[in-house]
Amino acid sequence: MMEMGCSLLGCGVEDDQSWSMDDYASGTARWCPGCGDHAVLTGVERLLAAEQLAPERTVFVSGIGCSSRFPHYVNTYGFHGLHGRALPVAIGVKLRRPDLDVFVVMGDGDCCSIGAGHWIHTTRYNPNMTVLMLDNGVYGLTKNQTSPTSPQGLPSMTQPKGAYLPGLNPISTTLSVTNASFVAQTGDWIPEHLYQTIRAAYHHRGFSFVRILQRCPKFTDKLFMDAVRDPNVVELMVHPNGIPTTGLDEIYKNHVEHDPSDLQSAHRLAELGEKIRLGLFYQNESLPVYEEVRSEHLQSADRKIELLNEELDRYAV
Ligand code: SF4
Repeated sequence: MMEMGCSLLGCGVEDDQSWSMDDYASGTARWCPGCGDHAVLTGVERLLAAEQLAPERTVFVSGIGCSSRFPHYVNTYGFHGLHGRALPVAIGVKLRRPDLDVFVVMGDGDCCSIGAGHWIHTTRYNPNMTVLMLDNGVYGLTKNQTSPTSPQGLPSMTQPKGAYLPGLNPISTTLSVTNASFVAQTGDWIPEHLYQTIRAAYHHRGFSFVRILQRCPKFTDKLFMDAVRDPNVVELMVHPNGIPTTGLDEIYKNHVEHDPSDLQSAHRLAELGEKIRLGLFYQNESLPVYEEVRSEHLQSADRKIELLNEELDRYAV
């Protein structure tokens, strides 16, 4: 067991220290009973314990929304920020401390509406961090308004007769951004697939974007109901370089072979169909990572002082 207070204060971490899932838990999660956020939290705690990520070197950043309460429930460093602004905070952390493991948790409203500009540009910057976008198709925290990903026709408090427009497709959108390097989709109700997807995202070098289809029994209880009850509604993307599906094949029998290095095929598979498609759409680890490229262009502190003095000397009398 770790001595969390001591390690967080940086007053000495034993070499043989190890952390269990319970060590990463913090407080009582105050999401509704049956909310998919609980399953995601468990999957993340499993990852933290499996990878033995030191709490004092791990940061969770979030914006505003139900899922954005995430940092309160993980015993690491955390930053619960402003609506839509999780990514700029996270990229700031990463640029200052590239050695830290940075996770970002956003909802669909947070990411795809007010934070959309940050989403697009951080995808292009491709910083090395893991992004979990929990998509329940509604603004839940503010009690049921149509979100950018609400499917057309889904009733809410703001559009009671059903969402006027077709929902935005976060997978297609992310795939379309220049320099996008990791795009995956999973569902909170399949714990093993969820864990394997988060694990693959964590090990990816670059910006890994995971859309997690998330149950909201309070406001969008029917949204993923068919897929939860009937495995035939789900189609797994399978490939040796994709998300491992060992143990799931027997339950989820619909498979489509997809090489995640094939961007064109990823775009085609991302289009909405009758089935809910889960797995790794795209991965490319050879793309430039912003903090690495940037460091090549930065001058050392000594060189900066030298240049500054040279400039000041130009004006010396
Ligand atoms: Fe979860 Fe929905 Fe409740 Fe929010 S409103 S905590 S998303 S079930």
